[in-house]
Amino acid sequence: MIYIHVPFCKSFCTYCDFYSQIPQEGMYEAYTRQVCEEIRRRAPEVDDGLKTLYFGGGTPSVLPLAHLTRILLTLEQCGHGGPYTEFTLECNPEDIVEKGLHYLESLKSLGVNRMSLGIQSFDNTLLRWMNRRHSAEGALEAVRLVREAGFKNLSLDLIFGLSNLSDATWEATIDQAIALEPEHISCYQLTVEGDNRLAQMLENGEYEEAPEELCRQQYELLCRKMAAAGFVHYEISNFAKPGFEALHNGGYWARRPYVGLGPSAHSFSGKGRSWNSAQLDGYTHSSEALTVEDEKVETLMLGLRTAKGIDGEFLLANCREEDVQRLLAEGALVQAGRYYRIPESHFFVSDEIIRELV
Ligand code: SF4
Repeated sequence: MIYIHVPFCKSFCTYCDFYSQIPQEGMYEAYTRQVCEEIRRRAPEVDDGLKTLYFGGGTPSVLPLAHLTRILLTLEQCGHGGPYTEFTLECNPEDIVEKGLHYLESLKSLGVNRMSLGIQSFDNTLLRWMNRRHSAEGALEAVRLVREAGFKNLSLDLIFGLSNLSDATWEATIDQAIALEPEHISCYQLTVEGDNRLAQMLENGEYEEAPEELCRQQYELLCRKMAAAGFVHYEISNFAKPGFEALHNGGYWARRPYVGLGPSAHSFSGKGRSWNSAQLDGYTHSSEALTVEDEKVETLMLGLRTAKGIDGEFLLANCREEDVQRLLAEGALVQAGRYYRIPESHFFVSDEIIRELV
């Protein structure tokens, strides 16, 4: 599993806390050169047990094709070239519309087989508030082009839990997303993190966080609509048509080793975690071993986010039996064979349930 962080965005979204920069002269070249060097240096760490490649960001679709091609060639020269079982590229709809069908066909010929579009909303007022570059119409056009180029695995990202997102607008956004017939939908609740524009707006009184009850209602509406449309709710924030569950992200939740390349990318070796510093020039790599306690907490936190849950033997060996029994009695945990999982009805409060267990 390989993750490559592309730290460029043409503008910054109101709520974003990822490391990214507005591209300037020479930056693509500096980035590509360093990522290729890092690939050569860290190629022995790559475990091809699950052969996935994921370009995330930032906005990977702003990276010129020539640079993307150089990175892929370097992977190939180092013994980790395609075809990949799953090769995802995160895209901004506006880039797709601007670059057009030829760009998409080139991505396809480079081996990309899963497109992830950051749609977030189909409401233009909200998109402007989020400072997204695209419009609702642009998003529809991007999806049309992705299909015309022949991509058979399309994921859409949506956001809920904004205090200025009405239930009617949220319902219309879900309906529009479903009508586009994607294979996969990821939905994230807006959170205020770090020192971004949203955090400043909150501090200045320009924004108020959405009440918990509103977020819960929007999440429950989403769950109902996705189920009715035939999606499997296989992880708290992720829905897929059967057989289209994300392999790469599934690897994260199962704690499979992965190598993260590029500024601010994180990696997991199976024993320890490491990360690159968030700077374009001369980014550095640091690591730490995990303690037994860290491993236990990670396994619980990641496993219990999924509909599969975690092995009962692990749960009972690492959590107090009285807590497990109480959560089972409350319906906050259910047992299915040798696995224990949080039922969908309690996904929204999964953080509290996991906290009780750890
Ligand atoms: S496009 Fe993505 S990474 Fe870039 S600012 Fe927006 S949310 Fe952040």
